[in-house]
Amino acid sequence: MNFAELGLIPELLQAVANAGYTEPTPIQQQAIPVILGGLDVMGGAQTGTGKTAGFTLPLLQRLARYANTSASPARHPVRALILAPTRELAMQVFESVTGYGRHLSLRATCIYGGVDMNAQIQELRRGIEIVIATPGRLLDHVQQKTIHFTQVEVLVLDEADRMLDMGFIPDIRRILDMLPANRQSLLFSATFSEEIRKLADRMLKNPKLIEVARRNAISETITHVVHPVSAGMKRNLLAHLLRHRPDMQVLVFVDTKIGCGRLSHFLARNGISADAIHGDKSQQQRTETLDAFKEGRVRVLVATDVAARGLDIDELPCVINFELPHTAEDYVHRIGRTGRAGHSGRAVSLVSPEEKHWLAEIQKLIKFEIPREAVPGFDSEIEPPEAGASARSHAHRSDTDTHAGREGRGSKGAKRERSPRAVPSPMVAADGFDFSKPYEPSARLAPQNQAVCTAPAPPIKPQRTLAALLGGLGKK
Ligand code: AMP
Repeated sequence: MNFAELGLIPELLQAVANAGYTEPTPIQQQAIPVILGGLDVMGGAQTGTGKTAGFTLPLLQRLARYANTSASPARHPVRALILAPTRELAMQVFESVTGYGRHLSLRATCIYGGVDMNAQIQELRRGIEIVIATPGRLLDHVQQKTIHFTQVEVLVLDEADRMLDMGFIPDIRRILDMLPANRQSLLFSATFSEEIRKLADRMLKNPKLIEVARRNAISETITHVVHPVSAGMKRNLLAHLLRHRPDMQVLVFVDTKIGCGRLSHFLARNGISADAIHGDKSQQQRTETLDAFKEGRVRVLVATDVAARGLDIDELPCVINFELPHTAEDYVHRIGRTGRAGHSGRAVSLVSPEEKHWLAEIQKLIKFEIPREAVPGFDSEIEPPEAGASARSHAHRSDTDTHAGREGRGSKGAKRERSPRAVPSPMVAADGFDFSKPYEPSARLAPQNQAVCTAPAPPIKPQRTLAALLGGLGKK
């Protein structure tokens, strides 16, 4: 099947061809005709499936039927509202809307918090047909009467389950109450909890259910591996792995904002080009860092879950969990940043004995045991944690933007854990990742950055951990 068979107009076919897409993805095949037909949709699809184009293309086509070329702002009321949970995701959707809509005369803008409202107000005053927004800032505009919804024809709620996690559902209900009843509504979510269903009942009329990915399905193009390592040796192991793949761009996940900054500084001090992105950084910093990473000017991006939510980075080859997420579903979200759109990807997790419970929970969810590959010199058996070890994690998690509802799930996991299988320590991992060989740089990274990465790195000083200090004190 091709895009023309889906009934798209030439302007959109041209944009799709410019994007290099030859064939619609399954969600696009299903969603485009339904949305073009004006029906409501309840879409079960994760990021990485092509869902953004799946709703953006038909939305643009519907709006283009009555596009107005007049310069008068009054002729350009808000006709489509797309709600996204994070600024980064909203920006990504905005880029899709402007990219796919480049041959149409529709105006779009992106509205999110953390930046001055005035520029957004000026933009809205120009007259904008498509507004992509995070809920909180959108309500600020409503309060200031700088946006009006009387002409809204289409509402899209993207990543509804994330909206729920982040506590946005009351805001969304308020926004729903302000919209015209006679509209088309599309709701997308990777998972469908009771609350999401309730929201869907309120928001959608006789929706067509479109589901392309099984709940918590993970891409088959991703290779998973666990490296057992003590907590104190993790950052040294990370630097070691990164040095063996100097050409490879990597997104590294950590639990806390403070850990995020520290780890990126540690890598930078050790000659590895790295930057951090987390909820405490200003929007401008986050955008700049993300752009630098996307353009290959930064090789390693250290991120908390909140900052990395929904990121779409072309052909990102590898995600490393420096710390395991404490909610198994977050593992699926994190590793979903790689192996997108049919590309191969690698999901590496550095797992210390204290994290055994989280690993068991993840394996239970994804329904397979992740192969363990001990890295020579860093090997550590994943033994049962000492009593109370998991409390560390809860106490120190602090990137609060998205962590609502996560606390307290650990003990549940602890009861259901399975015993791990010990695997010998090879130099060549099961998926061909060879720790002993240097790698050819790829064209993906900016040349100046490759030079930084391939330069011999200074030796890493052994890390003094609290555990090591306490151990030392105990022996005295
Ligand atoms: P999404 O699930 O919307 O985040 O999209 C994931 C990635 O797939 C994005 O990088 C899109 O540019 C890409 N993509 C979307 N549709 C197609 C398609 N039909 N063919 C190839 N890549 C696509």
